[in-house]
Order: sequence, then structure tokens, then C-alpha cells
Amino acid sequence: MGCLTILLIFNLKTYYKFFKNFHKTRLMESISIPEREHIKELKCYLQDELNDCKFIKKECRNKIIQYFFDRNDSFLMEGKRLSVKEKSSLGINTRLQITHNFVSVLTPLGLARKNPKDILVSLHYKAIFAQIRDDNILQWNQQGIIDEYELSAVKDGRDCEWCLAMHGKKFSINTKQDLNKLIKDNCTCYSHCRLSMNAVIPSYWYDK
Ligand SMILES: [Zn+2]
Repeated sequence: MGCLTILLIFNLKTYYKFFKNFHKTRLMESISIPEREHIKELKCYLQDELNDCKFIKKECRNKIIQYFFDRNDSFLMEGKRLSVKEKSSLGINTRLQITHNFVSVLTPLGLARKNPKDILVSLHYKAIFAQIRDDNILQWNQQGIIDEYELSAVKDGRDCEWCLAMHGKKFSINTKQDLNKLIKDNCTCYSHCRLSMNAVIPSYWYDK
């Protein structure tokens, strides 16, 4: 009887495992989407942002790329830190921990920022959001369900005037207008553009 119980438990476990995996496989199949056309790598978006960045010296752009993509490269954050006196003479927040290496990659405009480390945060978000915007349009085009999207500002007092003016504006997903370029040419938000893209569901969907 004991053996029978052990056998039964073993079999139940095996069946459970089998069905669990089977279910998983089916689920994976049902949600798999056609392989997406390759969009630019994140590194390319960062390079684009760096090319337009007035705060990093041209000859030091590769240091920023290495900082983001090479885990073993900590040049910007290692080495001697600025003393309080040095920070005050440069007008940098004296409570900020900042290295001479990091200061060495900044232009005078970069040094004039109250917190120069914000430059890295800004570049990071600008690159990621630009990639997400391209990816959204690509996916919507491939899915063929929606025709347009609508921009939405955060409206928390930190949007620039242009971003506020763009709130509610609709764009065709097939338009030749490059949203990333439009943002680059117009947005003056302190760190990065936070406009979000919302799919506009066609009205005939509601009539069904
Ligand atoms: Zn803006």
C-alpha cells in the first residue's frame, strides 16, 4: 500500500510537471509575436544624443559610452574627488561627490550645471525613450491595428511649453514625421522629454 501511495504521488508529480510545461509551451506559442524588424541598438541612440550634447567634450564622448556599456570601465567615478573648495570655485553643489575624472569630460556649459551628474541621467533617459518611441511605431505598424497615436504630457509643472502644447496632438503611425527629431528640435525640458505615446483605438472597435 505504501509503495502504491509513493507511486501515485510520483505519477501525480510527473503528470503535473508535464501539464505545467505543456501549458507553458502553449502559452509561449500563443503570445509569441513575429520577429521584429531590427531597430537601432541602444548604443546608437546614446551616440546620437551625445552628438547633440553641449555638456560633454567632443573628444570624451567615448568615455560616456564606456561608462554606460562597459561594466569594467569606471573611469568617470573613480580617482580623486574634488574638495569642497574646488567644488565651490566651480559653482558645483558642495555636497555632491564628484571626481576629477568626471569633471575632465565636461564642457564649461556642463560644469555650469548645478548637478553635473544629471547630465548622465538625462542622456540615459533620452536614449532609452528615443528607442522606445521608434519601437512603438514599428510594433504598431507591424500589428496593423491602429492608425494613429496621441501624445500626452505629464503636466506636473516640469514640462516645457512645447511639450504642453503637444498634449493631445495626434499623429499617423505612417507619417514620415520623425517624432524623435521633432522632440530633439523643439523640447526644452530640463532633463528629457517625457511625452508619452498612446495608441488611438479606431472608433469602429467600439461599434462592434
Ligand atoms: Zn519638453
